[in-house]
Amino acid sequence: MLPVSEVEKIILNLVKPFNPEIDSEVIYLSQALNRILAEDIHSKLDFPHWDNSAMDGYAFRYQDLTENLQLAIASDQILAGTATSKPLAKGECIRIFTGGMLPIGADTVIMQEDTERIGNFLQLKVKPTQGEYVRRKGEFIKAGTKLISAGTRLGATEIGALASARCQQIKVYRQPKIAIISTGNELVSLDSSQMLQAGQIIDSNLYALSALITQAGAIAMTFGSVRDDKLELEKLIQKAIASADMVISTGGASVGDYDYVDELLEKMGAEIHVRSVAIKPGKPLTVATIGDRQSLYFGVPGNPVSAMVIFWRFIRGAIAKLNGTNEIYWYPQFIKAITTEDLHSQGRRETYLWGNLTYQKGSPVFQPVSNFSSGNLISAIGANALAIMRVNQTYIPAEEVAIVMII
Ligand code: AMP
Ligand code: MG
Repeated sequence: MLPVSEVEKIILNLVKPFNPEIDSEVIYLSQALNRILAEDIHSKLDFPHWDNSAMDGYAFRYQDLTENLQLAIASDQILAGTATSKPLAKGECIRIFTGGMLPIGADTVIMQEDTERIGNFLQLKVKPTQGEYVRRKGEFIKAGTKLISAGTRLGATEIGALASARCQQIKVYRQPKIAIISTGNELVSLDSSQMLQAGQIIDSNLYALSALITQAGAIAMTFGSVRDDKLELEKLIQKAIASADMVISTGGASVGDYDYVDELLEKMGAEIHVRSVAIKPGKPLTVATIGDRQSLYFGVPGNPVSAMVIFWRFIRGAIAKLNGTNEIYWYPQFIKAITTEDLHSQGRRETYLWGNLTYQKGSPVFQPVSNFSSGNLISAIGANALAIMRVNQTYIPAEEVAIVMII
């Protein structure tokens, strides 16, 4: 039974990130949300493209200001989207609106709230500083300099910035294909029209894991469920490793008489790196590399919450490394929160307790659910965090700080 931190290291060491030359595609920016950039992007333009006003107000040359803070007002005005080629005359200011291009000669803008118009003159009510309220050409970024680095996950901000730099198409990593195989004699497919017989359950892991894989930016390939039968399972594993970048099987990873995964993987020539982890729930985790491409194989426990905890703790990060994402995304996010209830653990394994993380008066607060059974997925509905109790930590009293993993 290996410690959690050790298993995290082993897994991340086994992941070989995608090659940006081979494992990438060019897509439209409009399709790029949550994709990972496969190349550094350099700005094609200076941004802003020209000196412009950050305020509605008046543009002037700072040097022209005299003691009385008065300037003559030029007859024309500059709206956003218009330009003037006429240089500003000495001692004059010109009406300008936010985004309007500064005329030649102007270097400072005063906002209209700080002025008073007296006939053709403008009285400044405060003394401005030079360069105020001017967005200088190239101040945000200069043409040819790096705008966004390869490995960045594209969110709304990045997409907006790429749009303003006129990047219509970008090279991103392809989405990894992750196979899911469910094992167990008791499993029935959700779309089966048969009545559930005694002992049968619906293969819910297939749906939960598919959703987690999609959320992680990958493509879930579902291979259906197999009975606890070595031959059937071997065939399905072969099929999965031939077409997917990573394989997850659920169930059969433990030490029960019908848990064949490890034995079968060994027979198939896989190298087994992890057989069990000191984590609760999720102890019977198998991590192996298999096939010509040495694909990563996760044999996760069948209990629905265990399977999800293993995904959140280990597999999500492995997918992030595989698809070229920056290292900060390879690890879960942990924060300290005050627990509203006592937390208990037997202390033998690192224990993950699900619940709700909220911010009360700005401080993180964790409310655990009342019942933790790894077989009870219903108890985890709405959970957005897992409190962690380290090995040998058996009790955290209510109102004390706990380390919480955001899921
Ligand atoms: P196992 O890891 O095969 O020993 O399974 C542990 C528990 O998880 C058993 O109660 C199974 O019925 C349940 N289980 C296994 N596979 C699934 C699945 N695909 N969906 C929902 N529950 C499952
Ligand atoms: Mg089973």
